[in-house]
Amino acid sequence: MKNIIFLAPPAAGKGTQSSLLQEKYGYAHLSTGDMLREAIASDSQIGRSVKSIIEQGLLVSDDIVITLLKDSLQKIGDKPFILDGFPRTYNQAIALNNMFNENNIENYIAIYLDIDEESAMKRALGRITCLKCGNTYNLYDDKLKPKQDNICDKCGSLLEKRSDDNEESFKKRFATFIENTKPIVKYYEDKYLLESVDVTMDTETIFKRIEEIIND
Ligand code: ADP
Repeated sequence: MKNIIFLAPPAAGKGTQSSLLQEKYGYAHLSTGDMLREAIASDSQIGRSVKSIIEQGLLVSDDIVITLLKDSLQKIGDKPFILDGFPRTYNQAIALNNMFNENNIENYIAIYLDIDEESAMKRALGRITCLKCGNTYNLYDDKLKPKQDNICDKCGSLLEKRSDDNEESFKKRFATFIENTKPIVKYYEDKYLLESVDVTMDTETIFKRIEEIIND
């Protein structure tokens, strides 16, 4: 089973697919977005410094996310892992490459979740998130609604709309993806370590396709 790097525009479904992979295969799910939201919720120094950056749909500095990612990668030991939301810049991709070299990690694949801006925006605007465990739901999709209104199926906490899931911030995040993260798709393609998946299909079909890739 391969370690996974998800590369995707906002609201493409990285979180949803990561939850399914975590349940079925026991992957550790390392989401820099979740780590930053936890830092904000706990009102830590990092949290206070990144809150308005995230709400504006801009990228947090490489130094902060690289340190967060390095720490959490060290904590998971030998478990297979999913990187959700990292790397997002060229510098982060190089830092990750160095971390992999230092830890002899060779068994990985970058998966690009391909979606157009309009479909992704619809997902972002219907999304509600558990700020405690990071699980996401979607009000516009019957299969992705929580069983009980506004309550997380996984941990029972209240669900909320993320403060950056509004139209203005979404558009900025999408543009940031095209400018900073799309070139990284090419970076992994050039290393022959990239698979693309069309994520405008339903959740189960996408999951099956990802299973084929990680078990290949
Ligand atoms: P989405 O995929 O919907 O954009 P994420 O939860 O992955 O949501 O990220 C939310 C926000 O957290 C990003 O818009 C950005 O501000 C910040 N962030 C997350 N990961 C990174 C990263 N690797 N580098 C810089 N900023 C990040």
